[in-house]
Amino acid sequence: MRDTTLMQMALGLTPPWTVTGSDFDAEVGRIDIQIDFPAGSRFACPSCGAADCPAYDTERRSWRHLNFFQHQAYLTARVPRVRCDKCGIHTVSVPWARSDSGFTLLFEAMVMTMVSAMPVAAVARMVNEHDTRLWRVVHHYVDAARARLDASDVTRVAIDETAAQRGHNYITLCVDIDQARVLFATEGKHAGTIAAFADDLAAHGGDPDAIAEVCIDMSPAFIKGVGESLPNAAITFDKFHAVKIINDAVDAVRRAEQKGQSVLRGTRYVWLRNPDNLSERQRATLDALPTRHLKTARAYQIRLAFQELYDQPSPEAATDYLKRWYFWATHSRLDPMIDAARTIKHHWDGILRWFDSKIANGLIEGINSLVQAAKAKARGYRSMRNLKAMVYLLAGKLDLQLPT
Ligand SMILES: [Zn+2]
Repeated sequence: MRDTTLMQMALGLTPPWTVTGSDFDAEVGRIDIQIDFPAGSRFACPSCGAADCPAYDTERRSWRHLNFFQHQAYLTARVPRVRCDKCGIHTVSVPWARSDSGFTLLFEAMVMTMVSAMPVAAVARMVNEHDTRLWRVVHHYVDAARARLDASDVTRVAIDETAAQRGHNYITLCVDIDQARVLFATEGKHAGTIAAFADDLAAHGGDPDAIAEVCIDMSPAFIKGVGESLPNAAITFDKFHAVKIINDAVDAVRRAEQKGQSVLRGTRYVWLRNPDNLSERQRATLDALPTRHLKTARAYQIRLAFQELYDQPSPEAATDYLKRWYFWATHSRLDPMIDAARTIKHHWDGILRWFDSKIANGLIEGINSLVQAAKAKARGYRSMRNLKAMVYLLAGKLDLQLPT
């Protein structure tokens, strides 16, 4: 008798629910706790809330609960359907579990805490459940928290893509810069991506017309999407993407030149880095090269000069600097550099916008590391939906309202 009272208190059960017994199977390592209600008990209608509905019939169900020491624990109960005068017959909700879950709320809270810290597959092994059951729990809490998401104060957004898996499948992230949280994650990167974000924003109390600043790369899909769906947003082109365009041009110059200049073999990464970041060996390689005669070295100087744009003290100084740089780059007689400079010219306003907005996707570097962590935790996630849920869980700053 006393151990059932103890269990009843530990489970926090309130009338009419009582613990009526427990069985422990030492061989299987499993404890079963039976919960029941006295005959004649009345329940609230789950539909309209009317109290004092009589039980119509019952269905036996069980739920995985937190382990009892090292043993798996299950709650079992007869769950009544009630007959409400107004609503007809409905299954009542039990206080320890959600209606469609085979886990108790406390077990789910434990799962949610664990999956924030380790891969879902590892949690599944630890608790000895199939991971699809755990993913179902993750989706429930993430979806519910996202339904409560308040995006009404969002005005500055960074939009960037990241590889979902090595070599294929991209996921686009839309980040609220001011609160450093992922607002929206979606598969791929195409013209409809920004429109889908704008719809999602509106669905969460946000206003696409209120977005004043957006940071994107120079892809036509994003530029077009922002123009159509975030009409009042000033575009800042992400400076890391801008530098990457120049970097790629330097690499193209090197590849072409390497065919006739064997000294360039194995120097690819020397030119991709900044001088301050070279390893000792790379520094020695660079010093030994006849840089004065190399086109690659000239292209590299043009790249370093482009980076200095971002050190200019004012928008006016930056405009003058960019004009001089453009003249130099387009007179370099290096075709890849000329093409890159024209791309920069074509996106002039958004590049210089940085001097007013000071936003860059580097601001979401912290988010990116969370996304990397999400990929690791969603390892073997099998679906983009699982990956997105993990991104929201780790990087969305959601209010999960986990049961306690
Ligand atoms: Zn009712």
